[in-house]
Amino acid sequence: MISIRNVNKTYEAKHGSVKAVENVNLEIKEGEIYGIIGYSGAGKSTLIRMLNGLEIPTEGSITVAGREISHIKGAKLRKARQEISMIFQHFNLLWSRTVTENIAFPLEIAGVPKIKRMQRVKELISLVGLDGRENAYPSQLSGGQKQRVGIARALANNPKVLLCDEATSALDPQTTDSILELLVDINKRLGLTIVLITHEMHVIRKICHRVAVMEGGSIVETGPVLQVFKNP
Ligand code: ADP
Ligand code: ADP
Repeated sequence: MISIRNVNKTYEAKHGSVKAVENVNLEIKEGEIYGIIGYSGAGKSTLIRMLNGLEIPTEGSITVAGREISHIKGAKLRKARQEISMIFQHFNLLWSRTVTENIAFPLEIAGVPKIKRMQRVKELISLVGLDGRENAYPSQLSGGQKQRVGIARALANNPKVLLCDEATSALDPQTTDSILELLVDINKRLGLTIVLITHEMHVIRKICHRVAVMEGGSIVETGPVLQVFKNP
């Protein structure tokens, strides 16, 4: 589903250039929950942001579902982003809009007519367990509920891939577990491929099938979770 080949990313900063990602190669299969773990500064955000065109690799190629993602622009990039959706640590909701309006937003952009939009939002609200909260504003929701809105919004246009950028890092342990269970449920029910980045081993152990360990911009180990994190 996702193929990352010989990817490098160098940022040009004031005080010189920073090699954020170095010679990364990864193959992620359809339907897989793939985790990328590493300390802060390891290059995880840069790597995941390159998967939906938020950053452009300095070198190398990234294909998603057989299509090159790394050097497209404009309408093509917007179309690709409907298929490669993302959720965030701080949810990135629109604060002046209700739950329904937040979830409907990507459908509006995609030009889905109002009646269809409202049907789809209803399905999504029920999928993520937010029934009864349709007209609430983000400020009236708990952290877990906010992330459920983020997930529903990300799924609105039926993506093939869901990218999760530290999606549970702002949540308490119990809420983290309930969001991770929701992601597993979505992975099973929709066959959605999930790629997540985290600094928390617990998250990887709980839901990932395979994991890559990142250090200083490079991948230092990959494999099935049980093999990479086997107890000594
Ligand atoms: P992680 O997500 O694992 O914390 P990042 O991808 O955010 O890692 O960062 C990797 C490296 O790239 C760090 O050294 C960071 O300071 C640097 N970096 C990230 N974004 C930028 C940027 N926009 N400009 C310059 N350097 C950056
Ligand atoms: P954080 O938790 O990162 O400090 P917030 O939770 O306040 O930030 O905001 C998360 C995201 O929501 C931000 O990235 C911003 O883009 C968006 N946001 C915040 N306030 C508003 C607003 N009034 N209208 C629209 N978007 C907002």
